Amino acid sequence: MDCCSPSNNTQEVNINCPSCGEKGRNVQLITLKSLLKASVLETIEPENTYVFCSSPNCSTVYFSGNHSQIFSESDLKMPVYQKNLGFDVPVCYCFGWTRERLIQAAGTDQKPAADQIKVHVQAGRCGCEVNNPQGACCLGNVNAFVRGIKEV
Ligand SMILES: [Zn+2]
Repeated sequence: MDCCSPSNNTQEVNINCPSCGEKGRNVQLITLKSLLKASVLETIEPENTYVFCSSPNCSTVYFSGNHSQIFSESDLKMPVYQKNLGFDVPVCYCFGWTRERLIQAAGTDQKPAADQIKVHVQAGRCGCEVNNPQGACCLGNVNAFVRGIKEV
């Protein structure tokens, strides 16, 4: 499994979110199958393209490429980093780095979280497509969040 290699990352698609108008990123069907609640999963159409909206101000998490379906955070089994500012929300879903854990770690002299995560990624242990609602590697989010902590 090589979900964090650049070649295998999700791609920006020319399909705008029906709720906020921003461009979304393609997600694989396996991501929805892993993360949607059962009652919602029963409604997906596997022939559809599904797209992830990362806008923090938009409540839509996934939408179908033909705009016939919209799924919001409450349709998922877990909180969505881009949509939920809670401290207990994961930034790195595979290895359990919540905002709270990243903030705590940033105040210590342990190896930076991103470096710890990279070791696991390089060892082939990550499974972003089934763990992370964005269906892609979290390292960009982790780096951006940690930079934000240091600026405070
Ligand atoms: Zn949106």
